[in-house]
Amino acid sequence: MLGFSWFGCSGRDGKLAVTEPSAAVETVTVPSENAAQLVKLGANGAASSSTSGVPLASPSPSPSPSPSWSSLPVAVAVAVAAPTLVLPDDGPIRAIDMHVDTPWRVHFKGRSKTANEGPATPKKLRDGHYAAVVYPIYLPDYIHDDHPAISDADAVFATIDALVAAQDLLVPPTGEVPADKIAVFVSIEGAGAFADDITQIDRFIKRGAKLIGPVHAHDNRLAGAATGKSGGGLTELGKQFCERIYAAGGLVDVSHLSDAGFAELQPIAKKFGAPIVATHSNARAKKQHPRNLTDEQLRVIAETGGVAGLNLYRGFLGSDKLQAVVEMAMHMVNVAGVDHVGLGTDFEGGAATAALKDASRLPVLAKALQKAGMSDADVRKIFAKNVVRVLAWQPNR
Ligand SMILES: [Zn+2]
Repeated sequence: MLGFSWFGCSGRDGKLAVTEPSAAVETVTVPSENAAQLVKLGANGAASSSTSGVPLASPSPSPSPSPSWSSLPVAVAVAVAAPTLVLPDDGPIRAIDMHVDTPWRVHFKGRSKTANEGPATPKKLRDGHYAAVVYPIYLPDYIHDDHPAISDADAVFATIDALVAAQDLLVPPTGEVPADKIAVFVSIEGAGAFADDITQIDRFIKRGAKLIGPVHAHDNRLAGAATGKSGGGLTELGKQFCERIYAAGGLVDVSHLSDAGFAELQPIAKKFGAPIVATHSNARAKKQHPRNLTDEQLRVIAETGGVAGLNLYRGFLGSDKLQAVVEMAMHMVNVAGVDHVGLGTDFEGGAATAALKDASRLPVLAKALQKAGMSDADVRKIFAKNVVRVLAWQPNR
């Protein structure tokens, strides 16, 4: 069922043949605007130059099949969302991209672990001035005859570890990330397998899977999908799952969630003071598509201190022109505010808009946004700093 789609995040959903190849909430703070070159993710959503990350929970053994993460002391591994990233206030604008599907290409589509092909190779990330990338543990709905298993998530996590180990440019998201390296964060896209045992999500979050999307293209045992048939929201188990994610220090990714599910998530997120995050979704007002967000949803995301990631997939933009990307970004900023828009390109998931066909082209987008009237500081927020803020979120304890 792989290979093409029109309504998932990408060409992996088995649908149509359009080749598309996911704090403190009240106080929205961003990295200081002074000359500090290093921004460390701190607790409670604030990005500061001095705060250390707070371990999410007591260390406990977990399967760690890879050399990169498993070689870390456990105390570090549980705080993987606390790197020091180089995010200068001048010079090249660095990017943090909330959705790049390289692990899918490697794990399911036979690409080499060096990942030296495609639109988001590590070299192209470097040329696009990436500071960090979020690699999803994407679990295809039909990976087996029925549904994915939690062991599949472990296997993809191992692939991500191997990817990082095989590439000098990529580093785990711990410690001080050198300016010429790219930190790799982990998310889960389509976490329906965890309906088998929602407690298993804890160990994934402890290992650094921060952003968890309960559902992908099809309804599952946790939630209705944005592109699902039922129109249903979160199931009772799905609500418990989301609570568990927040309690463990993770964040729910609403990018593939149905509108009903989005609405039902709001009180749960509020209970935990958590920002609502859509890692890779555009605005429905500019391109009608169930995978895009309504203006009301964009405003809710802003109210929670969250972020919506600008998606470069042409099907969610409606055009191959750079101007369409700029107009989409401007609309999202106008509705949600400049502190609540980020990047979630969907590179490697499918065909990005021709104007920004690979990761090395991101500086072209930065320039275009500036040309459209956005300040340099605001572009830096959208490219990285807003995402830094949400990645640093921890539940109040
Ligand atoms: Zn997606």
